[in-house]
Amino acid sequence: MKLIIKYIKPHLLQMAFGMLIKFIGTIMDLLLPYILAHIIDRVIPLGNMTPVLWWGVLMLLCAAVAWIGNIVANRSASMVARKAIFRVRHDLFQKIFTLSNHQVDVSTVPSLISRMTTDTYNLHRMIGMMQRIGIRAPILVVGGVIITLTLDPVLAGILIAMLPIMAVIVTFISRKGVPLFAQLQERNDDLIRTVRENVSGVRVIKALSKTEDEKKRFFNVNRSVYKAESKANRTMAINSPLMNMILNLGLVLVVLAGAWRVNAGATGVGTITAFLSYFTIILNAMLTITRILTMFSRSLASARRIQEIMDLPEELQPMECEAGGDGAISFENVTFSYHKRQPNLQNISFTLQKGESLGILGPTGAGKSTLAALLMRFYDTDEGRITLNGRDLRSMTPAEIRSSFGVVFQNDQLFRDTIGENVRIGRELTEEQLQTALEHAQAAEFVAEKGGLSAPVEPKASNLSGGQKQRLLIARALAGNPDFLILDDSSSALDFKTDAALRKTLREHYADTTSILIAQRVSSVRHCDQILVLEDGKAMGLGTHEELMENCPLYREIYTLQTGEEVAV
Ligand code: ADP
Repeated sequence: MKLIIKYIKPHLLQMAFGMLIKFIGTIMDLLLPYILAHIIDRVIPLGNMTPVLWWGVLMLLCAAVAWIGNIVANRSASMVARKAIFRVRHDLFQKIFTLSNHQVDVSTVPSLISRMTTDTYNLHRMIGMMQRIGIRAPILVVGGVIITLTLDPVLAGILIAMLPIMAVIVTFISRKGVPLFAQLQERNDDLIRTVRENVSGVRVIKALSKTEDEKKRFFNVNRSVYKAESKANRTMAINSPLMNMILNLGLVLVVLAGAWRVNAGATGVGTITAFLSYFTIILNAMLTITRILTMFSRSLASARRIQEIMDLPEELQPMECEAGGDGAISFENVTFSYHKRQPNLQNISFTLQKGESLGILGPTGAGKSTLAALLMRFYDTDEGRITLNGRDLRSMTPAEIRSSFGVVFQNDQLFRDTIGENVRIGRELTEEQLQTALEHAQAAEFVAEKGGLSAPVEPKASNLSGGQKQRLLIARALAGNPDFLILDDSSSALDFKTDAALRKTLREHYADTTSILIAQRVSSVRHCDQILVLEDGKAMGLGTHEELMENCPLYREIYTLQTGEEVAV
C-alpha cells in the first residue's frame, strides 16, 4: 500500500480532476431512473405530451454528460496509471542494478524478472481500475441507497438490511484471496525460471536429446501455475454468484413488497420501476466491488513483492578501513563462503606488484571465479582482506573499484548492437582506441571481414563464432587501457596460436597493467610472474612455473596430463 501511495502521490491533482468528472458522470447515471419514475408517476398522468418530451430531452442530456464524463475520466485514469507504473518500473530497474550479487543470489534472477514484468502489470491494472470503477461503484451504491430512501423508505429498508451481509462475505473471501495470489506469483517465478533455463540452454537440451524431459519439466511447472491460479480464482469465484443470489433474493422481496404497497396506494408504479432499476444498478456495482477486491488482493501481493526489492538495504557501502597492504593487488589470508557454511575460498594470500601477472589454475569449482568476484567487490570477504594499491577494498565503492578494471568473465555477453558499441559499452573512447583494442585482442582481422566497427552483432551474438565472441570480449576489457585486467577462462575458445599471440601482445603493450589470468590450460599461464594453483578453495601452490614444477605435485600432474611430457622428479 505504501508503494502505491508513494507512486500516485505526484498525480493526485490529475486524479482528483478525473474523479470529479467521474463523480458528475456517475450522478447523471443515477438520476436517470429517478427522472423516469417522475415521468411515469407525475408527468404522464397530466395527459400532456410536451412536458413528457422535455423531460425526455433532460434524460438524454444526463445520459450524454454521463457518457462524455466517463470517457474523459477513464482516459485520465489510464494516464495516471501509465505514468505511475512507468516510474515504478524505472525505480525498480535502477534498484536492481544497485543490488549486491549476494542480494541477487537470494532474490534469484527469475523472481526479479517477474517482479519487473507481471507484478508491475498487476499494479498498473489496479491503479487504472481503482480510479475507473473504484470510484464509480461506491458512488452508485451509496447514491443508489440514498435515492431509494427518498423514493420509498420501506422498500429501501430491504436493501439496507442486505448490505452488511454482503460486506462480511466480501471481506472474508478477500482475506483468503491475498495469500493465494501471493502463492500464484511464486509459481510464476518458477515458470519464468524454467522458461529461462530452457531458452538459454536450448542447444544443450537438443544436443543431449533432453527435449522430452524438459517438456515434462515445463509441463509440471505450468501445471503448478494452473493449479495455484485455479485455487485462487475458485476462492474468489464464490463471491459473484453468492452476491448475485442475495441481491436477486432482495429483488424478489422488493417486487412482492412493492406490489403490496402499490395495491395499498402507498406508492406509484413508476417508483417501483425506478426502484428495480436502482436495485440492478446497486447489484452490478456490488459485483464490481467484489471484482475490484479480487484485483486488489492480487495487486497487493504484487505491490508487496515490488516493495520487498525496493526495501533491500544497500550493501557494499564504503567503510572506514586501515590503509596498508603491499603492491598493486594483495590478498591477505582471504576466506570466503557464499552460503556462510563451507568456505569456497580458504586462507588465500598473494601479492602482485604493478604490471605483474598472476595465473590461476585449478579444476572447475576450485574457486577461481570466486577469487575474481571478490577482487571486483561483488562480495565482501568473510576473513582477511584484499587491498588495491594499498587501499582496503572495503573502503572503496564498487563503482570506484570497477572503473579501473578490464574484465572478461565466463558468462559475459555481447549485446545486439554494432561491434564498435559492444567494445565501447558507453565509455568515451575514440575509434582509434577501439581499433587498437581489437588488434591487441587478435580480433581486427575478422572484424574487418565482417565490415568493421559498424558491423552488427546479432542477438546472442549468433553471427559470431565462440572464438570471435571471446576476442571481442577481450577487446572490450582492453579498450579502456585498464590498470587491472582479469581474464576468466577467456582463452578457452582460442586456438593455441591466437592464444600465444594474445599473451605476447599483453606482455608488450600492457606492461603496466596488473593482470589475473584464469585458465584451464597450463600453456595459458606458464609465463605468468606467479601462478596460483587452487583446489577446493585452497591454495595448493604459489610460484613461478619452474618453482611449481619442483614443489607442487598437483601442478606437475596437470602439466603432465596436458602436455603428455613425463617430468623427472
Ligand atoms: P571455478 O571458477 O574454479 O570453476 P567457482 O569460483 O565458479 O569455481 O566456484 C567455486 C564454488 O563456489 C563452487 O562450488 C560453486 O558451486 C560455488 N559458487 C559459485 N558461485 C556461487 C554463487 N553465486 N552462489 C553459491 N555458490 C556459488
